[in-house]
Amino acid sequence: MANDSLISTDIDYTQHGKQMGVLRVPQSFNTAGWANYFIPIAVIQNGSGPTVLLSGGNHGDEYEGQVALMNLVRELQPEQVQGRLIVLPMLNRPACVAGTRLSPIDGRNMNRAFPGQRNDTITGMIAHYVSSVLLPLADIVVDIHSGGRTLQFLPSVNMHELANKTQMDEMVRAASSWGAPYVFIYADVAGEGLLPSYAESLGKITLGTELGSAPQFGVEMLQIAENGVKNMLRMYDVLTDSPYTPPAVASQLVAATNAADYVMAPVSGIFEPFLEMGDSVDAGQELGQIHSTEMPFAPPSPVRAQTSGLLFGRCGFPLTQQGACVATIVRPYTLA
Ligand SMILES: [Zn+2]
Repeated sequence: MANDSLISTDIDYTQHGKQMGVLRVPQSFNTAGWANYFIPIAVIQNGSGPTVLLSGGNHGDEYEGQVALMNLVRELQPEQVQGRLIVLPMLNRPACVAGTRLSPIDGRNMNRAFPGQRNDTITGMIAHYVSSVLLPLADIVVDIHSGGRTLQFLPSVNMHELANKTQMDEMVRAASSWGAPYVFIYADVAGEGLLPSYAESLGKITLGTELGSAPQFGVEMLQIAENGVKNMLRMYDVLTDSPYTPPAVASQLVAATNAADYVMAPVSGIFEPFLEMGDSVDAGQELGQIHSTEMPFAPPSPVRAQTSGLLFGRCGFPLTQQGACVATIVRPYTLA
């Protein structure tokens, strides 16, 4: 892909030291015709080593990545780094400012916009910059997500199941360095154009995360994000503040690789869960039921698991819509 982005920046990706600046995305408003929208970006570079691209706020209502990466940029000094960190704590900043999953400017989901286009809506232009300028520089790509307002998750570092075994094994090794309770292999059941999928397709060591949900935002989830990123950077000798030590408790490797592992609401209404996170599930078992808001005294609609395993993800906001994922079922996974 040609490096012909319409986005400009004063950041020099070859310069050593710590730079904090913005990407300037052409974006007119009714009150400002000649205008740019600013997306924050930082680069910390020193010595020689891999380039790590770190992003948060791909979805604006997911706060772990935004806060962990803002803290990281403020805290890290170039002397502690061997290699280059490129950090975008609010990748979809319009959504971050609005506290929404989707961009309020163009209504788009950043994590369905990759690789994007040069002259696109704002979300697609940002995706195109990442695809055409930043990903070619990167060896390791980390996109920090959580359930936001829509889903609740047992905390994981995650990736897709890849045909390239060498790449997959290295991604699992990198994910395991975080010390999160789970390393989760997921499948796409709601479209394509994900940042991690695109980075994986380029052969990058690519990690995503799902850390709790917006109501769970707090010390525990932030520590997983902050300690996880730092441990991984130490494992790759990019962060040299202290030696890498493997996590005391190994992550459990689990997977939801069948579309049937993602249970969609059969009707709209209020989802009443019957199980807690981490409970074991048998195929056919009722996971919960959905109460109609229009016929409150009619029998609720049962929501059944189609596969067996462990309840890993659950509807994060009880008022649900037909077709929304209300449960994710995982099983233990073994690397081939
Ligand atoms: Zn997300």
